[in-house]
Amino acid sequence: MTTHTRTQTHATTRGFVYLIGAGPGDPGLMTVKGRDCLARAQVVLYDYLANDELLRLAPKGAELIYAGKVGGEHNREQHQINELLVEKALAGNVVARLKGGDSFVFGRGGEECEALVAAGIPFEVVPGITAGVGATCYAGIPLTHRGITTSVAFVTGHESPGKASSEIDWEGLSLGSGTVVFYMGIRNLPQITQNLLLHGRPPQTPVALIRWGTRPEQEVLIGTLADIAEKARQASFRAPAITVVGEVVNLRETLRWFDNRPLFGRSVMVTRGADQAGEFTGQLERLGARVYGCPTIRITPPDCHDDLDRAIMELGGFHWIVFTSYNAVQYFFARLSHHGLDTRALRNCRVCAVGPKTAAALATFGVRADLVPADYKAQGVVAAFAEMDITGQRVLFPRGDRAAETIPGELAGMGAQVAAPIAYANETPEEIPAESLRALEERRVDCVTFTSSSTVNNLASILGENRFLHLMEGVQVACIGPVTSKSCRELGLEVHIEPAQYTLDALAAELIGHFAAKRAS
Ligand code: SAH
Repeated sequence: MTTHTRTQTHATTRGFVYLIGAGPGDPGLMTVKGRDCLARAQVVLYDYLANDELLRLAPKGAELIYAGKVGGEHNREQHQINELLVEKALAGNVVARLKGGDSFVFGRGGEECEALVAAGIPFEVVPGITAGVGATCYAGIPLTHRGITTSVAFVTGHESPGKASSEIDWEGLSLGSGTVVFYMGIRNLPQITQNLLLHGRPPQTPVALIRWGTRPEQEVLIGTLADIAEKARQASFRAPAITVVGEVVNLRETLRWFDNRPLFGRSVMVTRGADQAGEFTGQLERLGARVYGCPTIRITPPDCHDDLDRAIMELGGFHWIVFTSYNAVQYFFARLSHHGLDTRALRNCRVCAVGPKTAAALATFGVRADLVPADYKAQGVVAAFAEMDITGQRVLFPRGDRAAETIPGELAGMGAQVAAPIAYANETPEEIPAESLRALEERRVDCVTFTSSSTVNNLASILGENRFLHLMEGVQVACIGPVTSKSCRELGLEVHIEPAQYTLDALAAELIGHFAAKRAS
């Protein structure tokens, strides 16, 4: 038997362990490789410091085991974690061991690997962004900087202060001008600063404490070697935090980019359909918000295409096509393509697009809208057509199954022949994502955004009206426009934020203004 075969048997009968660095907190800071490995796991052992949102990336049905250690109180001893890893792997599982930051930086990943080696279990280690790199970056503090410092040290701050002889080279850390990052050092901060001062680091050396770095909860406290311990005591500054010592800390004043963003620390729920939420979510995240996705609408093809198909076959006979949404554009063109047709089939029609997003969607099919009404409500479309004479003209209005009758009704009233086939259907999902529900229940959501009446009504129907109202207590309600606001009020919700213009950009701007005013008061 060759070694080759033996290795293969190995892998199938003994399972496999991925040691994955989960990064410092922002779930986007795990590597692509880490994500791929996690997606293959049958068992996940995760830590206190690994953001549990990442658990969503594990396959459904994977066994999730909390191997947490909280602030020094070890719920499980390290040897128990090692044994559990070995046991789960020997049972033939693919095990993902998800650890905060990087496994090999104060993560005891080396010990876990030693246990795996001893048990003959194959493993792979996926590096992660360690807190010393991630949290400093999100605090706007470069670890090295030309002309300021040329070196950086990562040091444990966990060493027992009573220890007679230290294993830490205090002199080396104090005499140079290198940046020093202490992990697990908040409790020992008075001793740490004292040691650095005693060994010659100047008292005015700037120090930053960064707690829950890279997360919406990030807190930063700035001081000097002389006063930071007292400042931390006064502010009751607690773990988990790193302590950064060195002149680079001063760069935060200019380079701060994360915790000064207008929506930093705010949690905003986005209730649009999953396929449409992306852009708005991205926008809110860039403004610093923590976004909870909560799709209340699922867009699907309609049950029956007959009306739409008939309209498509007669496209040459229409004078106008009116698109009032991104979805209408996507589903109309999908159907056109289904029939082997493309944009050229529209050559005889003029095109009306409601709202810039709809116009942009049309542009991706090479269509420039002839008419983009200034007002993005149905009334705006009606007003724009009222200025023309459309008597006897044929107007096609591909729409969603829940669209109001305003546009076809009013245009028909002006003498047009209107066809309003259903191009797509709106479904209400049965539930909202568990994480979003939990955030609402735990009162962690500052604001819920509603971008159409359906988002309001659907959320109420998914949660049940009473529960909905209960969960929305104390939450700021942001609506894209008056129609949506009206739906909120009909359900008994107070509306706090509504932009003058009915766009997502305007809604985001209004959110900024609202929370800035709140902060100021
Ligand atoms: N392996 C981890 C470190 C584990 S030791 C890593 O590479 O980051 C635990 C210590 O890490 C904490 O006491 C704290 O000092 C630091 N830490 C971890 N995550 C942090 C975060 N998001 N912000 C600040 N400090 C953090």
